[in-house]
Amino acid sequence: MKRIIITFIGVIAMISGVYWFLHQRDNQVVNNNAKIQVVTTNSILEDMVKNVGKDRIELYSIVKRGTDPHEYEPQPTDVSKASDADVVFHNGLNLETGGNGWFTKLMKVSHKKFNQEVFSASEEVKAKHLTTNTKEEDPHAWLDLANGVKYVRTIANVLKQKDPKNADFYEDNADEYIAKLEKLHHQAQSKYLNIPEKQRLLVTSEGAFKYFSAAYHVRPAYIWEINTEAQGTPEQMQAVLAKIKKSEVKHLFVESSVSPKSMDKVAKESGLTIYSKIFTDSLAKKGTTGDTYYSMMKWNIDHIYDGLK
Ligand SMILES: [Zn+2]
Repeated sequence: MKRIIITFIGVIAMISGVYWFLHQRDNQVVNNNAKIQVVTTNSILEDMVKNVGKDRIELYSIVKRGTDPHEYEPQPTDVSKASDADVVFHNGLNLETGGNGWFTKLMKVSHKKFNQEVFSASEEVKAKHLTTNTKEEDPHAWLDLANGVKYVRTIANVLKQKDPKNADFYEDNADEYIAKLEKLHHQAQSKYLNIPEKQRLLVTSEGAFKYFSAAYHVRPAYIWEINTEAQGTPEQMQAVLAKIKKSEVKHLFVESSVSPKSMDKVAKESGLTIYSKIFTDSLAKKGTTGDTYYSMMKWNIDHIYDGLK
């Protein structure tokens, strides 16, 4: 009887072992062939990730083009894409976690852990802080191309670690893309210096140009400092009009992802015209100028130059 029982247990163990082995092998085959699933919070990160991962990743971006990533209401598709994701990239620096904190909530319902599956693209950037609330970081680091390069390095490192079989591919793509971004950065660094200093005031609705201004030698002026605060109050309007009056600025600008209402008012009160739209928190619709990070930066650099001159 004892021997029968031992034999029986032995057979069961063997069958389980074979089953486990086959099952493991199946999983491995699936994992080796599947593309990693990557989710980004906005179109700027989406484009950076696309330049590194190209066709070897599945990519989904949450906040649609032309809309504001500071405050957002996640949709059911966002929850399902985030739940299935191997990697989620967000900007960090108070962009998606300020205001209504939509991103923190989305990661919680999607059971995603920060620094394991969720990564901040701005990790290596030296943060600047808001002037109205010095405890809070200013998120708009990508508007300095040297920071954009840091984002791309961080993105490539995460993809290499999550998908080692394509590590060389990601590394080569990142190197090529970074060379292109660095070239534009170096051109922009001295571009504005021949414009008289009193004219070099960059007036926008949101104060998104701290990093840009420091890198490219223009002074920023804005109606409100960050999109999560009240927009276009009488005090804010007076403050920006006073700055304009003290300068010799020739034109105003308005961002593609905010309502132009307040800037129209500033134009009326100051007698200046809005030179053009510029891109800050979103890329343009696909197929139009400004639909990549490189193209939005090039557009901004050129239009800001022409408008200030
Ligand atoms: Zn913004």
